[in-house]
Amino acid sequence: MKAPDFDYRRPADLPAALTLLARHGAEASIIAGGQSLLPLLNFRLAAPQLLIDIGRLGELKQLTEGDGHIEIGGLLRHCDLAASPLIAQALPLLHQAIGHIAHPAVRHRGTIGGSLAMADPAGELAACCLALDGQFSLLSARGQRWVAAGDFFQGIYETALAPDEILTAVRLPRGGPGRISIFDEVARRRGDFAMAGLALVAEAYSGTLHGVRLALLGVADRTILAPSTMALLEAGPLDQARIEQAVELIAGEADPPEDPAYPPAYRRHLVGVLLRRTLRRILAEAPG
Ligand SMILES: Cc1cc2nc3c(=O)[nH]c(=O)nc-3n(C[C@H](O)[C@H](O)[C@H](O)COP(=O)(O)OP(=O)(O)OC[C@H]3O[C@@H](n4cnc5c(N)ncnc54)[C@H](O)[C@@H]3O)c2cc1C
Repeated sequence: MKAPDFDYRRPADLPAALTLLARHGAEASIIAGGQSLLPLLNFRLAAPQLLIDIGRLGELKQLTEGDGHIEIGGLLRHCDLAASPLIAQALPLLHQAIGHIAHPAVRHRGTIGGSLAMADPAGELAACCLALDGQFSLLSARGQRWVAAGDFFQGIYETALAPDEILTAVRLPRGGPGRISIFDEVARRRGDFAMAGLALVAEAYSGTLHGVRLALLGVADRTILAPSTMALLEAGPLDQARIEQAVELIAGEADPPEDPAYPPAYRRHLVGVLLRRTLRRILAEAPG
């Protein structure tokens, strides 16, 4: 199928884009890399009257180091992040996850802003931002607001973005040298969306995990934290018994939708397998 008719504007700067969105937000759609939007148009699952192409907004292509955080412009592409030594060093969770997103051709055009705005429940970057307790800058002609990742994702393909807002940047706290960062997922074939996945950050000392943040993807209507499992992992030394308790607990924290291809029980099983693999790795690599 072919896309329905639409008008197309390519503003030269951010103020011009915000003016267009203020005027046409409800019937318009932002287009960044087009990797999700173009298929939606071609399948006629979306029919905006106007596409506002933000590709020329250089303000959204910055990668900067702030006081204790890294700020990633919304238009940075997956391949930009994968190639960045700063991301590899300061945000290894993100670096690990990007290799699981689609294929090189998609990673060459797809942007972090587009991925997060799309809010696919199996999106890798959404889970990383939640695990890292990231903040998103949402900008409109009305002003700027910062929204925590935990409040941004509201359901399948649903976010806190208003029709006139652009996701301009993502702010992620950088970890200390002892931070453990592990991303893992199971997909049917390399490059497919994950059937289940996890993003974990923590610190390990005296045989116990501290500051655990564990986000899951592909096992609910949005990316979610697993608070009970996080609390269990911090409650005492990491050993085989605690690992098995955590595997049992996390299956109950997942809430996969009905899906004939991958039934909920299967996704719950997969997330347990991933968690066991992750925790055994931490145990094996723990000092002393
Ligand atoms: C074959 C294939 C496989 C894929 N596999 C994966 C996968 O495994 N994991 C994964 O996470 N993704 C996957 N994707 C999706 C892809 O990663 C995303 O489509 C892409 O990163 C989205 O970014 P984009 O710039 O292309 O967004 P676009 O397609 O341009 O836009 C997507 C949506 O976000 C909105 N939008 C875009 N940028 C902004 C912004 N800055 N502010 C506000 N709204 C905005 C648009 O209006 C639109 O609604 C796959 C895609 C394909 C085609």
